[in-house]
Parts: sequence; structure tokens; C-alpha cells
Amino acid sequence: MQVYKVGGAVRDRLLGLPVTDIDRVVVGATTEEMLAQGFRPVGADFPVFLHPKTGEEYALARTERKSGRGYGGFTFYASPEVTLEEDLIRRDLTINAMAEDDQQNLTDPYHGQRDLQARILRHVSPAFAEDPLRVLRVARFAARYAGLGFTVAPETLELMRQLSKSGELQALTAERSWKEISRALMEDQPQVFIQVLRDCGALEVLMPEVDALFGVPQPETHHPEIDTGLHTLSVLQQAALHKQPLTVRWACLLHDLGKGLTPQEQWPRHIAHEHTGLKLIKAVNERFKAPKDCHELALLVGQYHTHGHRALELKASTLLELLQSFDVYRRPQRFEEFIAACEMDARGRKGLEQRSYPQADYLRGAATAARGVAVQPLLEQGFKGPALGEALKRERLKALKAYKEAASG
Ligand code: ATP
Ligand code: MG
Repeated sequence: MQVYKVGGAVRDRLLGLPVTDIDRVVVGATTEEMLAQGFRPVGADFPVFLHPKTGEEYALARTERKSGRGYGGFTFYASPEVTLEEDLIRRDLTINAMAEDDQQNLTDPYHGQRDLQARILRHVSPAFAEDPLRVLRVARFAARYAGLGFTVAPETLELMRQLSKSGELQALTAERSWKEISRALMEDQPQVFIQVLRDCGALEVLMPEVDALFGVPQPETHHPEIDTGLHTLSVLQQAALHKQPLTVRWACLLHDLGKGLTPQEQWPRHIAHEHTGLKLIKAVNERFKAPKDCHELALLVGQYHTHGHRALELKASTLLELLQSFDVYRRPQRFEEFIAACEMDARGRKGLEQRSYPQADYLRGAATAARGVAVQPLLEQGFKGPALGEALKRERLKALKAYKEAASG
């Protein structure tokens, strides 16, 4: 049997990038031979094994044939007769369809190296269209390698367009989609992921709520870029530049969904978009079964981001309500993430990327003031139950009033 490195490990080494996860393909072996050598099978009907010592993945060379809708509908055929070239042709992109042996001899039947040099993401064969997840994968790779100058080949984009139109994207499970979406958002240029999905018509299918933001104007005084879709892309870009976590990036993507619902006669204003957007934010989160922390932060940022921007003008009582809504006493980190999302929103505007955002420190100070109210003295005064809650609120309000005065004085 022969073992080759394949996929990302070969691609990233040739790009001069660090290689973290190594996938290997085994040609000329049977499942029985693998088991006899101590490899552990990953799944019952999947010819993939883990190395007994390193735990790295070894997959038997295989061919694939589509047998139904979505991804469940795939039949694998693995046997010692399947050649390396046959295994490589089932892969998504030419730059992912190269293999190399121990001596770094390259097998590159589909010209991945040429496309690496030309900075092109190109599909290997028409079989690309058999798995709609590849639309998301290509957009994710575009987001990852945009900084190196990579773009999607026109013919690949055309295939992605056909896949988006065909209704196949809807067959993807929430889990598979979320995995790609969440990884893509953590890339260096997540806005490219959304842009590529939009370019091929997939955004309209997957997240029509985000797609609807393009072409919607905002007031030029606050938004020199005017277009709400472009603003959203810039906010995501800022979130990546500032190394924000997934929760914040996800909230950034969804914060303005309400603007897509504004009746045209009200343009470019978007009265109460914070509230109208909430049901859309909820719908997107449920569609992809986003994890709870992502879902929660997206809703809170959607509802309160304009509060964040107006932080310095908010009454003490409104500040208190804001802090209570975030349960800042038990969840201080979540409030930090809210502040970060607001700051990214403020900077994700044309020409304003470097602006200062004094609201951030002001909000932090307010949280500190409210959290500084001690419970013990109130307990000692005999407060308990709901009365204790009320007393705490009163003290926090006092603290916030003092904080406001000190800050404006
Ligand atoms: P990463 O750096 O994100 O791990 P990768 O290219 O190694 O990138 P993997 O998801 O680890 O991506 O997959 C390994 C290889 O398997 C890919 O390079 C590609 O050749 C192939 N592959 C994975 N998923 C698909 C798919 N849905 N369709 C076609 N080929 C795929
Ligand atoms: Mg990999």
C-alpha cells in the first residue's frame, strides 16, 4: 500500500503556510489490512481510519457516486483498485486535489499547482455539483485566501450559481451549513465569504434576510457608504481586523436585519429597525441551529446596538435597563462582546474605520458602577425576596446617576 498526504496539507505547504491538520489517503489497501495494522475505524460505513499512535486521519482511496438528494445520498466505493487519480477527481477544488508522497513528490493530475500560482479557486470536475456544501466551502476558501489574491474561477462561480438555483442548497443539514459558516466567519476576510455567496445567488437562498440588505440605503450623514449590505460587509471586516470571537462576528452579520423590512417610502431612515429585525435574527439562528451564545448575542446586539451608540446620552434609568437586559452582574463577558459589536458597527462605515468610540469605555464604566453595588449591606438591613431585588435596583440606579454626573463633570 502507498500513503499520500492530500488536501489542505499539500496546498498549504506549497503556499508556504503552516500546516496544522494532515489528511492522508491510502492506495492499494483493504479495510482488513488497515485494521490488522492497528488503525481504528472512524465510522461503520466510511473507509476512514485513525492512526493507532498519532491519531491522524487515513482514508482509503475511494470513488463517490451521488445516489440521492443532499449529502446522505452518496455511495462510496473503496477498494485496493481505486487509483490515486480516481480519488483526487472527487475532490472539490484543484488546489485541494493534489497528493504528495514521503519524498514530497507531487501528484497533480488536475493542475492544482497551476491554479495555486494563478491564485484561482477552480472546481476539479463537473461532479462538483453533486454536493451543495461545496458552494459554502469555496466561499470559505475565498474568505481565507483573499489576502493572497485568490478569486473564484468564473466557470466555478457559474456552477455554484446553478447549484444555488437548483434548490439543492436547501437539502443541506443545519449542522453541515453551520460548520462551514462558523469557520468562514473566523477567517481573515469573512466579508468575502458573504460576498461570494451573494455573487452566486446562494446568499439569497441561505440567508435571504442578509441578502435583502443590499440596495437598501441609509442616511449618508451616519453612513457614508449608504448601502446597508456594504455596511454589513464592512462591519464583518472590522470584526475580523480586531480579532473578535465568533459570537461577535455572528452578531455583526445580523445586527441590521430589520433595515431590510423598512418600507421604501421611509428610506433612508429605519425607524425601530432594532425591533423589527428581531424575528429575522431569530429565524436565521434557528435555521442553522446556531449555538446558544451566538444566538443570544445576535438578538441582544440587534435590539440594543443603537443604545450602545447613544450611550453617553442615555438616562441613568435606561442605562440600568440595558445592563439588566444583559444580566451584566452574572454575565460580564457577554456585555463586553456587546460593546465590541457596537464598536465594529460604528467603524464599519466608509471613511470612519479609525474613529474613536468613547462609548465603549463609558459603557464599561457604567457596568463597573452598577456591579459595584454590594448586596451584603442590603441583606443586613433586612431586605429579602422581591424587596431585595427592588432595593438593589434602587442602589444601582443611584450608582449610575453618580457615574453619569462624574463622567459629565
Ligand atoms: P482545512 O485547512 O480547512 O482543513 P482542507 O482542504 O484540508 O482545509 P478538509 O475539510 O480537511 O479541508 O478536507 C480535506 C480534503 O478533502 C479537501 O482538501 C478536499 O480535497 C476534500 N474534501 C473535503 N470535503 C469535501 C467536499 N465536501 N467535497 C469534495 N471534496 C472535499
Ligand atoms: Mg484538512
